[in-house]
Amino acid sequence: MTQQPVTTVHLTAQASRIVTTELRTADHSTETGGILLGHHTHDTVTVHHAGTPGPAAVRTPTYFLRDLAHAQALADEAFASDGSVWVGEWHTHPTSRPIPSARDAATYRKLLNDPELGFHSVIAVIFAPRAGRWEGAAWACRLGRIEPVQLQLSRSVG
Ligand SMILES: [Zn+2]
Repeated sequence: MTQQPVTTVHLTAQASRIVTTELRTADHSTETGGILLGHHTHDTVTVHHAGTPGPAAVRTPTYFLRDLAHAQALADEAFASDGSVWVGEWHTHPTSRPIPSARDAATYRKLLNDPELGFHSVIAVIFAPRAGRWEGAAWACRLGRIEPVQLQLSRSVG
């Protein structure tokens, strides 16, 4: 499978539903988020599964870090169901814009630099409030660069 630099991130209806439910129900005095699992084919990352924060996630008003055990369990389940692998993460910026912070960038760099994880690119999807709604933006991190990419959310049915 050829992997090219990512231009598009597509969240399936299944993944979108997890994210929109968490956005609707979470306490937004702190950030929330989770991991993203799916496939990177050509220039597109298709996200089939999105995680919730999990009980041990680090959640502050300006920082989010996934609950590793919770993320690992979801990753095992996703891989067993359709071969999805860890492609990145999503989180909220309740009080700022949907742009990776310096701390976010450092987290993504660490993932990219870990050869055991085997990331080609780390995908970040960040949501921030704008005019009373959540606005999402997708970013592809690779070789010390973070670039905005197109985000497509499938509408969940029902
Ligand atoms: Zn952030």
